[in-house]
Amino acid sequence: MKKYDYIFIGAGPSNVFAIYELLQIQANLKILLIEKGRSITERFCPKRKNHQCIDCRPCNITTGFSGAGAFSDGKLSLNDHGEIGGNLISYLKPEEFGEILNYTDQIYLDFGADNQIYGTDINGEIAKIRKKAIECNLKLIESGIRHLGTEKAFEIYSSLQEYLIKKGVEILFQMPVKDLIIKDNKAIGVELENKKYYADKIILGVGREGSSWLEKICDQYQIAKKPGVIDIGVRVECDASITKQIDDISYESKLVYYTKTFDDKVRTFCWNPKGEVTEERYDDNLALANGHSYKCGTLKTGNTNLALLVSKNFTEPFKTPIEYGKHIARLANMLSDGKVIVQTYGDFKRGRRTTKERLLRNNTQPTLKDAVPGDLSLVLPYRLMLNIKEMIEALDQLMNGFAGDGTLLYGVEVKFYSNKLKVNKNFETNIKNLYALGDGAGITRGLMQASMNGIAFARKQ
Ligand SMILES: Cc1cc2nc3c(=O)[nH]c(=O)nc-3n(C[C@H](O)[C@H](O)[C@H](O)COP(=O)(O)OP(=O)(O)OC[C@H]3O[C@@H](n4cnc5c(N)ncnc54)[C@H](O)[C@@H]3O)c2cc1C
Repeated sequence: MKKYDYIFIGAGPSNVFAIYELLQIQANLKILLIEKGRSITERFCPKRKNHQCIDCRPCNITTGFSGAGAFSDGKLSLNDHGEIGGNLISYLKPEEFGEILNYTDQIYLDFGADNQIYGTDINGEIAKIRKKAIECNLKLIESGIRHLGTEKAFEIYSSLQEYLIKKGVEILFQMPVKDLIIKDNKAIGVELENKKYYADKIILGVGREGSSWLEKICDQYQIAKKPGVIDIGVRVECDASITKQIDDISYESKLVYYTKTFDDKVRTFCWNPKGEVTEERYDDNLALANGHSYKCGTLKTGNTNLALLVSKNFTEPFKTPIEYGKHIARLANMLSDGKVIVQTYGDFKRGRRTTKERLLRNNTQPTLKDAVPGDLSLVLPYRLMLNIKEMIEALDQLMNGFAGDGTLLYGVEVKFYSNKLKVNKNFETNIKNLYALGDGAGITRGLMQASMNGIAFARKQ
């Protein structure tokens, strides 16, 4: 029986960067990486060409080498206070966080990322946005952004895949891990459909896509976890001219608002100037809204999209945040025959369904072509609806026209990273030799921190 030093479950950025760094520290490690999706060279989303989802199983957008990173917009947040993209800072010393951020950024550069950084305060322009945001009761979280762009992100991760294979990492694609092998409270291996593999250490890096599976595994083996925040909201799309002033300076802005009625936190997320709204599919066939943008000028659209997410902390006895999010998403899919719903903000405010006719004459045309005109008020709880409305009105003061009747809302967008695994400073769970990284563990929420989590894990070995 061949035994590995490490088995990594999931080939997302967290695990990919962990393996990269382990190999810098020690060359001859026996590493097995198991991924339920495809090799990056075989990842292709038909919908990006013909605008129709053909329901690939598993979804090529969220699974395969580099996980949700491959078709992401590839915005790397370079915020060294750890305020964007996760909670990794609470596992590291501040100076360690800053050093790992620069180191990880350099790896992206070495593999081909663009040198340009958006969002640094050239000529005091960011200070002007910050002042205006304060006047609208919005908090601007400042951060440099390196924008890879969807097609460039794909190239960078392709080079990383090639690099790992050349270094002798064994990778199994299209092989979902079904179960863990745990003996005397110690992880010793993993079980696939027809085969078992053994290793000294097992690392879970299953992302949001693997969150349901992980939840089941946690219950089965009493892996300690706590319910985290739920992020639910909509993707908003408007004419790019409305966001232009901000886009030109900072590429995207992280803005936080505490709503007047409920004092709930709403934030902007994944801002894509001249981008496209996309659909992401989860294992249980849920269609959710997302977005991205290309680096290349000819692939850009005339619209900007961004998510507005309501962060909600639930208290005892509630303990199933993922199910709650899925429930709302299912409701939306039920009304739209399994597709994402689109509604104009004018109709949303007036409490009426958007019809095909009204959508056709709308100023802003949807970039997600098969979105179904519908009514989000039949899906979103009152509290979420009001939070979103108040946030849109606040953003309108910053970007005149944002709350115009023609702005589009797509629903729903849910982030399934709400299950927070209890891990120590080495990212080890309460099961010995079982580690958890990235979005699936509830530690991170974005590419940069997920990648950094991998580096931090490797250095603590
Ligand atoms: C459309 C889109 C756009 C995005 N844009 C940005 C952006 O611009 N900037 C940003 O910072 N973030 C962005 N993100 C988020 C970012 O991609 C994630 O935060 C990041 O990829 C998380 O990395 P991870 O390693 O934790 O997990 P993931 O990247 O989700 O990878 C997890 C992997 O585990 C695999 N897996 C799951 N279960 C199993 C199993 N049982 N067996 C084997 N394999 C399994 C999955 O197939 C997947 O490949 C975007 C995400 C999407 C979907």
